[in-house]
Amino acid sequence: MLASYPIQNLKGVGPKQLEKLQRLGLSTVQDLLFHLPLRYQDKTRLTPMENLLPGQEVLVEGAIFSQHLTKGRRSSLLVKIQSPGGVFLTLRFFHFHYRQAQQFTRGKTLRVFGEVRTGPNGFEMVHPAYQFIDAQNPPSLEDTLTPTYPTTEGFGQASLLKLMKQALALLKQYPLEELLPAELLKAENLPDLNKAIVTLHQPQPDDDLGLIKRFQHPAQQRLIIEELISHQIGLQQLRQLEKQRLAPALPPSRMASRLIASLPFTLTAAQQRVLQEIHQDLSQAHPMQRLVQGDVGSGKTIVAALAAIQAAEAGYQVAIMAPTEILAEQHRNAFTEWLEPLGIETAWLSGKMKAAEKRHTLSRVESTQAKVVIGTHALFQESVNFDSLGLVIIDEQHRFGVHQRLSLQQKGQKIVLEDDNIQTNESTEYHPHQLIMTATPIPRTLAMTAYGDLDLSVIDERPPGRQSIDTAVISNEKRGDVMSHLAEKCQQGVQAYWVCPLIEESELLHAQAAEVTATQFADRWPQLRIGLIHGRLKGDQKAQVMRAFKAHELDLLVATTVIEVGVNVPNASLMIIENAERLGLAQLHQLRGRVGRGSLKSHCVLLYQPPLSETGKARLQIMRETDDGFRIAEEDLKIRGPGEILGTRQTGGLQFRIADLKRDGVWIPLAQYWSAQLVENDQAEVNKLQERWIGEKIEYQHA
Ligand code: ADP
Ligand code: MG
Repeated sequence: MLASYPIQNLKGVGPKQLEKLQRLGLSTVQDLLFHLPLRYQDKTRLTPMENLLPGQEVLVEGAIFSQHLTKGRRSSLLVKIQSPGGVFLTLRFFHFHYRQAQQFTRGKTLRVFGEVRTGPNGFEMVHPAYQFIDAQNPPSLEDTLTPTYPTTEGFGQASLLKLMKQALALLKQYPLEELLPAELLKAENLPDLNKAIVTLHQPQPDDDLGLIKRFQHPAQQRLIIEELISHQIGLQQLRQLEKQRLAPALPPSRMASRLIASLPFTLTAAQQRVLQEIHQDLSQAHPMQRLVQGDVGSGKTIVAALAAIQAAEAGYQVAIMAPTEILAEQHRNAFTEWLEPLGIETAWLSGKMKAAEKRHTLSRVESTQAKVVIGTHALFQESVNFDSLGLVIIDEQHRFGVHQRLSLQQKGQKIVLEDDNIQTNESTEYHPHQLIMTATPIPRTLAMTAYGDLDLSVIDERPPGRQSIDTAVISNEKRGDVMSHLAEKCQQGVQAYWVCPLIEESELLHAQAAEVTATQFADRWPQLRIGLIHGRLKGDQKAQVMRAFKAHELDLLVATTVIEVGVNVPNASLMIIENAERLGLAQLHQLRGRVGRGSLKSHCVLLYQPPLSETGKARLQIMRETDDGFRIAEEDLKIRGPGEILGTRQTGGLQFRIADLKRDGVWIPLAQYWSAQLVENDQAEVNKLQERWIGEKIEYQHA
C-alpha cells in the first residue's frame, strides 16, 4: 500500500518539492520511510567544556568572554566562551552579518551545538548552531536524539521532518510487510520492520541512544541485514544468469605444458592450483567468471598466458586488456616471447598507433590470424571486430571499475559466433569466458560484496627466492640525504625509482614535479644515468624509457605514479616515494611492488611531509611492518572506508542505503546464508525484497 502511495499526496509537497524529493530518490511514502537518518545529533545532555574531545559533536554552554574579527584575506568572527571553571572554547564564523557580530556581548550565555576541532588556540567549533539563553532559567534539553537526514538543496531537515511525521502516521494505519524470515528475527533477536522504522525516525528517550548513535541498535541491524540480504540475492541472480549463458567449451591444452617446460622457473603451487581452476572453468560450456587475486609479483601474467593458450589452441581469440600503455607493452613482450614459439600469433593495439599500422593489425584480428590481442581500452573500441572471441582477460581490474567491467561484459555479449557443432543455419549466441586479474588485495567481506558475482581464485604465494622489502619512513627534511644515499647506491650498480606523486589531479603538475627532481639529480650527479617518465610523454617515448631502464642503460628512473601498475624490472631494488602520506595504502603497496621483483634485497623509502597526524603515522607504520597486501588492505579498511579501497569509481555497484561495509561487514556471512535460503525456498519473498531495496538498480546490475 505505502509502496505505491505517491509522495505528492502528503501535505506540503507541490510539483516543485516533488522534483526535489525525486532527486533524493523519493517518490512514494515507502521510499520516505526508508530514507533513514544518516546520523543523530545528541542534544539530550550538556558536555562540560572541561571534557571536550576533538571530533565530538556536542552541546555546550558557556558565557561569552570576548569577540573579535580576524584580519586577512578572509576575515572571520571569533567568539570565545568560557565555562564556570575557566575553560575556553572558540566559536569561529566565516559568514556573518555585522548585526550578528554585535549580539555577542561579553557576559551573555550561549548554548551551542557543533563539532569540536583543534584550532590554532585550543578547541573551536566552526559555525555551530547557537542560542542565547537565560543562565538563570535555561530552556530544557531535548529528551531524545535528533535525526539528521540526507537532504538536497532547497529541501532541508525541517521540511523532511514534517513529511516524516505524516509518513509515520500513515505507517500506523498501513504497516509494511515483514520480509525477513521469522526464524532469523528470532535467532538474532531483532525487532520487526515497522517497529524498527519508527525507532530509527523517532528514537524514544528510553531506547538505547548510545547504540543508535553507533548504528548498533537492533532496529538498525535488522535493516542492515535486510539490505545486505537483498544485495546478496542480486549478486546470486547475476551469477545464475551468467551460468545459464553459453560459452565455447575449450578442450585441455597440449601446448601449455610445452610452455611450462620451457620456462626458466617452475610454477608455484598457488599458480598451479589457480590454473587448474581456470582450465576447469574453460572446459565448461558456460562462461567462466573468475577473479584472480594475487599480490604484486605473485606471477599472474604467466597464468593469464596459459589460459590464453587454451583458448587459442582451440581456435578461439583472446582479448587482453591492460589499464595503461606501459603495461600493455609489457604484456606484448611477455606474450610474444611465450606464445609465438608455439605458433600463436599475437597482436598489439595501441591508441597511439599510426593509421596504416592499425589497419593492418585490425585486419589480422578480423581474419582471425592474430589469436591473442593485447591492448589498452583502444582494444575495445567499436572498430575491433573479433571473429571468434573465446576469452577476455582484464588485467589489474582495480584500475577499471564496475562500470567498465559491466560494459566489457556487454561487449562480450554482442559477440555471436557460428557454432559448427549445431547443425542449423541459426547462429547461437555465445559469451566469451572472462578472467579478471587484480593485485588489489580485497578483504574477504568486501570481495564477497563487490565481486560476489564472480568466482574467486587467490595466488597466495610468491615465487621462491624473493626477499622481503625493507621499508623506512623518513621526514622530507632529510630529502637531501636521501638523494645522496640513492646516488651513491646507483654508482654501486643499484637501479632505483624515485616516485613523485602529487595530490593534484593534474598531469602537468605531476610531470613538472618529476622533471624538477630529475634536474636536481642531474645537476648534482652528472655521471648518473637518469630517465624520466610521466603521463605526458607519448606512448613510444614511455616505452623507450622503460626499455632503457630494463636494459640497465639507466640507473635512476624518476617517475610519476604512471609506474604504479604492473611495471616489471626485476633488477630495480630501491624505491623512494615522495609525499607518501598523501597516497592510499593500496597505492603505496602497488608502487612499492615495483621493487623486490628479482632476487636482490630491496629497499623502499617513504618520504613524508611533517607533521603527520596520528592516523598518518599509523598508516605509514603499517607499510613498514608488512608487505603482505592482504594485511595492508585489512588495516586500510579499518582506517578508511571501502569506497577508498576499491577506488571511488568502483563503488558504483555498492550504493547502500543503510549498510556500510566498513561498519557492518560482520553481517555479510549471515546475509549470504539467508539469501541462499530465500532464493531456494521463497521466490515471492525474494522478488519483494529486490523490489524494496534494489528497485531500478537491478537493471543496472544486469546491464
Ligand atoms: P604480477 O602478479 O604482479 O602481475 P608478474 O606476472 O609480472 O607479477 O610476475 C612477476 C615476475 O615474476 C615476472 O618476472 C615473472 O616472469 C616472474 N615469475 C612468475 N612466476 C614465477 C615463478 N613461479 N617463479 C619465479 N618467477 C616467476
Ligand atoms: Mg601484473
